[in-house]
Amino acid sequence: MNIRHDSYKHQGQRAQLINLLASNKITDKNVLLAMASVPRHLFLSKDFENRAYDDVALPIDEEQTISQPYTVAFQSQALEIKPGDKVLEIGTGSGYQAAILAQMGAEVYSIERIEKLYKMAKINLQPYLKNINLFLSDGTMGWPDNAPFDKIIVTAAAPKLPEILLEQLKPGGIAIIPIGSMKIQKMVLIKKSVDNKISQKELGDFRFVPLIGKDGW
Ligand code: SAM
Repeated sequence: MNIRHDSYKHQGQRAQLINLLASNKITDKNVLLAMASVPRHLFLSKDFENRAYDDVALPIDEEQTISQPYTVAFQSQALEIKPGDKVLEIGTGSGYQAAILAQMGAEVYSIERIEKLYKMAKINLQPYLKNINLFLSDGTMGWPDNAPFDKIIVTAAAPKLPEILLEQLKPGGIAIIPIGSMKIQKMVLIKKSVDNKISQKELGDFRFVPLIGKDGW
């Protein structure tokens, strides 16, 4: 059996990537520590392993992508994760983002709509499954049985503010969602006040694969 593992070479490449992120306004130590410890190459096929620590999005199966490390760091930092936070992720993909959130101490609920990716993520996430729950479903409907959530992260491009997801956000909660066209989106930071008022802030341009579902594309 070909068991893949971490190595000094990969750890060195990861350290360089962390330096790059830190020089690019990623200041949350918890984010940097988590990204320094989770081996991104183990979430990619062998074909892309040698590019795992380049700051780029890379292909996974089913024409989907593992997000760029900077984007993972940016969204994780925006969520202000505290240990024990209950976090809903829409778009499990490879499972890498879920692993980072779990490593930061969150209890993660992650939804993927493509069965092949859901199964692959379950394998990739073996070391983290104590803190991660996976669900094969249309994430635009959220996960009502486990709502409400302290934080919500969407890792695919939504055409509009997904109202159903915001209903599943706790008062005082934070959501980070790329919203826009299929080609380019604004990263939108949403805060729900303790008296349930929603405020939004745009945090720059990003590019994601589309969020496909009842309340998506
Ligand atoms: N977070 C992932 C990672 O760390 O590898 C990257 C996510 S990839 C950019 C976007 C993912 O969202 C794809 O796997 C895609 O199948 C999934 N997706 C798109 N629409 C979805 C939906 N309605 N519900 C759940 N997942 C969805």
